[in-house]
Amino acid sequence: MSLIVAKFGGTSVASPERIKNVAKRLVRMRQEGHRVVAVVSAMGKTTDELVGLANAINANPPARELDRLLSTGEQVSMTLLAMAIEALGYKAMSFTGRQAGIETDGTHSKAKIVKVDNERIEQALEQGAIPVIAGFQGIDKNGDITTLGRGGSDTTAVAVAWGIKADVCEIYSDVEGVYTCDPRVVPRAKKLDQISYDDMLELASAGSGVLQSRAVEFARKWNVVIHSRSAFSDAEGTYIKEEPDMEEAVITGIAHDTSEVKVTIRGVPDSTGVAARVFSSLAGSMVSVDMIIQNISLDGHTDISFTCPAADLPRAKEVLGSVVPEINAREYVVDEDIAKVSLVGTGMKSSPGVAAKAFTTLGENQINILAISTSPIRLSVVVDAAQVTQAVRCLHTAFGLDSESVFEEKQLSAEEIAAKMMKGR
Ligand code: ADP
Ligand code: ASP
Ligand code: MG
Repeated sequence: MSLIVAKFGGTSVASPERIKNVAKRLVRMRQEGHRVVAVVSAMGKTTDELVGLANAINANPPARELDRLLSTGEQVSMTLLAMAIEALGYKAMSFTGRQAGIETDGTHSKAKIVKVDNERIEQALEQGAIPVIAGFQGIDKNGDITTLGRGGSDTTAVAVAWGIKADVCEIYSDVEGVYTCDPRVVPRAKKLDQISYDDMLELASAGSGVLQSRAVEFARKWNVVIHSRSAFSDAEGTYIKEEPDMEEAVITGIAHDTSEVKVTIRGVPDSTGVAARVFSSLAGSMVSVDMIIQNISLDGHTDISFTCPAADLPRAKEVLGSVVPEINAREYVVDEDIAKVSLVGTGMKSSPGVAAKAFTTLGENQINILAISTSPIRLSVVVDAAQVTQAVRCLHTAFGLDSESVFEEKQLSAEEIAAKMMKGR
């Protein structure tokens, strides 16, 4: 009999009916003899709606107030789930992040967990209750509510699983696990039975929305086994854990991300210290620069491009507004319609030719590469946003990842994919 943390995402608790189903599932786990702690996200698109509300009032909402507002989404679903469990004749108790002992630093909207003290959760378990925790939130040392970044309920679940020494952290969503690629974009994506922390972390950081990268980072650090599975079926999902004797595929999966933009500074004088000046100013304003490309110089001038999250663009523009004239560069231009496609696999380390094959495939499909970056286990290319679906599909086929069966759930339209991918902006 196990101690299980079960996290249910927004889609899984989107309606009263679905909340009742989650309650039934939790009760069933109890009847099977397991002890279980639930972690919930806000219902459906609640967080997006709350962000919209805040923006309708103030284009630049104060971070402290925004976090307080967004934390209410999860507080609604936690109480409703507790009520649904009680309606089935079982005891349940809901807890906010603060009550569950999730302490964070003070970085609003992307706070980091600094301490986990799940005493009250353990007491509730001892009393025979099913604790239900509001995901995505914690409390800083001033007692202010913080949030853990979009998708942050995954991190709450992993942190609680570590805090109470659970056997497994089950993350329930609307897909059956981690696939070789987003199955709504590539219908022939394959479900993986297991994946290593390293591969999963790289996929999540490169944009695979199925798990928040911070949750994977936390799990890797503290060895928490994650089971990503479907809220709508009993099928086994994907285990994320250290698996040294697992056969290494060259490419484990492909991720894509349209939440970044590309900025090019034109006519930069090719002299020592200029790049340092540009990138220290950007860093000073908390712009997270991802890829950097410097062209060969012509007549003592060069172009420097970089990519960064679209959310950081206003700050980047502010910095460049003063730095560009200071370094005597000509101008800067922004390209917002880009997408990053990343091939990920620990097996890449010992397998030459991945880049050659990827570039050839993209070339054969008339997809122009705007930027490239690599790590020992990842190859990322930036392409035109309009070509992202095509790029991901042709690479998926070229690297032999296609499954025989076709993902049967509703495929998203191009607009829906775009809307989903814009979520992080
Ligand atoms: P939740 O709201 O439950 O947290 P998410 O929407 O965050 O669920 O994550 C599930 C979604 O992740 C799926 O609907 C799927 O479209 C998307 N996704 C992206 N990449 C992958 C992948 N490699 N494997 C599975 N799902 C993926
Ligand atoms: N509700 C938050 C979000 O939409 C956190 C989560 O769902 O994990 O990002
Ligand atoms: Mg999620």
